[in-house]
Amino acid sequence: TRDKGAVSALLGRRQRNVGAASVLFYRHPLEMARASGCWMEATDGTRFLDFYNNVPSVGHCHPRVVAAISRQVATLNIHTRYLNRPTETYIEALKATLPDSLSNVVLACTGSEANDLAMRIAMSGTGGTGFVVTESAYHGNTWAVTDISPSALKQGAPPPHVCMVPAPGSANFGEDIAGGFQTAVEKAIVTLGERGHTPAALICDSIFSSDGVFADPPGFLAPAVETMQAAGGLFIADEVQPGFARSGDAFWGFDRHGVTPDMVTMGKPMANGYPMSGVATRPDLLARFCEGVGYFNTFGGNPVAAAAGLAVLEVIETEGLQANARKIGHHIMTRLGELVATDARVTAVRGAGLFIGLDLCRDGDPDLPDPELTSTVINGLRDRRVLIGAAGRYGHTLKIRPPLCLTRDEADFFVDALTDTLAAIPSA
Ligand code: PMP
Repeated sequence: TRDKGAVSALLGRRQRNVGAASVLFYRHPLEMARASGCWMEATDGTRFLDFYNNVPSVGHCHPRVVAAISRQVATLNIHTRYLNRPTETYIEALKATLPDSLSNVVLACTGSEANDLAMRIAMSGTGGTGFVVTESAYHGNTWAVTDISPSALKQGAPPPHVCMVPAPGSANFGEDIAGGFQTAVEKAIVTLGERGHTPAALICDSIFSSDGVFADPPGFLAPAVETMQAAGGLFIADEVQPGFARSGDAFWGFDRHGVTPDMVTMGKPMANGYPMSGVATRPDLLARFCEGVGYFNTFGGNPVAAAAGLAVLEVIETEGLQANARKIGHHIMTRLGELVATDARVTAVRGAGLFIGLDLCRDGDPDLPDPELTSTVINGLRDRRVLIGAAGRYGHTLKIRPPLCLTRDEADFFVDALTDTLAAIPSA
């Protein structure tokens, strides 16, 4: 059709313009035209239910966020060297969700920048240079942060100042995830020492998204955090994925574990798609860092970002999105539990709120991950108008992460589409 030709011409332009750095979903990528709520519309008019995108977390093009951005961008949009009211108002609203000890917030534009800054604050605050991360972690794209993002490495291992620990799942630690993960962190600190590095920090995505989604049991992180802090290092909670009410149980992922981080980094859903990120930190740590180099970020926390961020906090509150994430997430988990019980290829479902992982394996054996099946399922779901991705070391975990305004009917649309997709794929 005419439209297919137009999309492939656009793909050609993309490849010529962006070259090897162009990363797109699907062999036949989609060209999107518009979006609202949990739905995106392609240029041929097909509407897709978005189960991948946790950036427009309160819903695509949410009218209240759009209005806040529009109003502010038409009034004042400046770099960060002047005082302005929206920015302080925003930071105060954000701080109300955080532990009292994290009373300084530095705003930036991307999660990568936030983690890069947190790493540097951790090094100046502890004198340490070593970092402990999970084996399939992703924390961003700067030089420093790529070093602590094993999932981004296409070959080789992270450098010596970075020590990996296994993902905190039962496959690695059996029943005692808290104890197993703590022991792994303890060993990693010893390994760093043997390589000449004292620890600066343990940094964890507190729902372990790229490792394959590991949320339970709540509290399992606490012993590992204590171990790192006792060794003189800090705990950085990377909330880019679970933050802003997604887990349903709490506003932040670390809250589910009953720990108080030394720093919290955040991004993606923070301003519903307007670039914004931040590091919440103890003032003593930030003061120490600023004795050395200081920090300036031209666009970080500009008034337009602040207006968007404030609107997001207000929408989460007024629309009860944390409770919705808990309720609809529970409904999805219950229905997916039936799939685990009836389809041998579906070996596990786990998660919290609207962040759920579903493992797909061969022969009903959790030790035989099946990334090919997962990819077939992802494409089958696209044919049934659901957009979704995969996670985990082997890429066999379906990553279920829709906007937080998802309705029960939309949840059922997804589970029905997944059930039909699996039914249409013959078991090997
Ligand atoms: N931390 C985590 C846990 C992430 O998932 C990501 C992005 N996928 C980042 C940090 C980096 O954020 P950004 O792409 O905004 O730099």
